[in-house]
Amino acid sequence: MIIIKLHDRFKTEILSYTQDGLGVAKIDGFAMFVSGGVVGDFLLVEVTKLNKTYGFAKIIEIIMPSKERVVPSCPAFYQCGGCSLMHLSYSEQCHAKYRQIYDALSRIGGIEAPIQFNPAYSQFRYRNKMVFPFDERYNWGFYKGKSHDVVPLNDCLLGDELNQKILNCVKLFFKTQKIPIYNEATHTGILRRVFTRVSAKTSNVMVVISANADRIKKTDVLVSELTKISDRISSVILNVNKEKNNLVLGNKNITLWGDSTLSDTLCGLDFEISPNSFFQVNHEQTELLYQQVLDYADIKKHDTVLDIYCGIGTISLACAKFAKKVVGVEIVPDAIENAKENANRNGIDNAEFFCAKAEDLVPKLLDDNIQPDIVILDPPRKGSDEKTLSAICEASPRKIVYVSCNPATLARDLKFLSAEYKVESVSGFDMFPNTTSVEMVVLMSK
Ligand code: SAH
Repeated sequence: MIIIKLHDRFKTEILSYTQDGLGVAKIDGFAMFVSGGVVGDFLLVEVTKLNKTYGFAKIIEIIMPSKERVVPSCPAFYQCGGCSLMHLSYSEQCHAKYRQIYDALSRIGGIEAPIQFNPAYSQFRYRNKMVFPFDERYNWGFYKGKSHDVVPLNDCLLGDELNQKILNCVKLFFKTQKIPIYNEATHTGILRRVFTRVSAKTSNVMVVISANADRIKKTDVLVSELTKISDRISSVILNVNKEKNNLVLGNKNITLWGDSTLSDTLCGLDFEISPNSFFQVNHEQTELLYQQVLDYADIKKHDTVLDIYCGIGTISLACAKFAKKVVGVEIVPDAIENAKENANRNGIDNAEFFCAKAEDLVPKLLDDNIQPDIVILDPPRKGSDEKTLSAICEASPRKIVYVSCNPATLARDLKFLSAEYKVESVSGFDMFPNTTSVEMVVLMSK
């Protein structure tokens, strides 16, 4: 067995990827994670960090590149923490995501169901929401991986093309007015971040300036400059965040110009989105994902549907027109308020929403009130929990449709549910091309 030391160099091949998109090489059986490695690359690497059972290495030379290696479309790719797979061909990105799902389901869940993987139509410009921080020299960009150092950018290929002009305009204004950038360490300065959101329905853009202040001098000048950029800009909003925190936005919004909300549609339903509301980021893929949920659920008109972790009720409301009744459960009070407003706005009167922890409320609801025919769950990354899952099994719905953004916790929960339910189909969706995120929908039946 070779004894591996720090700074040792090895010639090696990349065999697979970690969940974070690092290349994995095996050196005498010892796993070495190589940033920027592509499966099939033959590399000279240098060990940069060693743990007991694995290590990290950097690429010194690409001896023979993989045929799936491509030149990243963004010049800042290797510095910026936003994307992690842009050096892979798109088909290789999809293959890596498919493997992530397949490996988790088989290793953790013991599940061998067929997986259908749905690539994205657009690999670029697919994000309807972007948040840009600034550095003290007024450069805008993104954070480096695992840090709050800003990597200056001229454009981000994941967002709308208009962002570039908006950000440059904000930069020029703050620089000219000598209004300082917010400093996290000292909690001084004013401009924290710029947040933009684009409507897929109208292509209107909401511009939100997040600041450590209730007012900013000469905002009439800022508004006048911003609105000259494009008639797509439909609102300019000052978001006040004077707290010492890392949140993207504070709670107070002052509309400097235009509308206070942005209208959009999703699955034929209308939504009014305020700066702080959650709304799915990849509109095109979300519609496909929700359609998959509806296809799997195959709701009949006498069915009661329980949608656990319902957020602002988008899935619940998409189900409502097919069902007798829909019940949504969600922990965030504002999201439940939004869900109720969204139901009213769309004239939906067969949806009921509850604000509670799923693990507390779902067992109670299922015990005395509700007999669901179909249960949909879409938990956060950490997955669901045994209290909720046991209650679902006991209520014995005809079908369970599980939506997940984390293959590992999905596999764990499916294994638990497998005592009573069988996995029928698994569908993977690439919601975030060029990043390692993957979304899945699973159909289980009794
Ligand atoms: N289905 C929604 C949102 C899914 S995101 C959509 O497609 O838009 C997961 C949601 O679970 C978030 O809204 C989060 O606030 C909520 N959540 C997290 N922990 C929860 C818990 N313990 N009980 C209920 N909801 C929870």
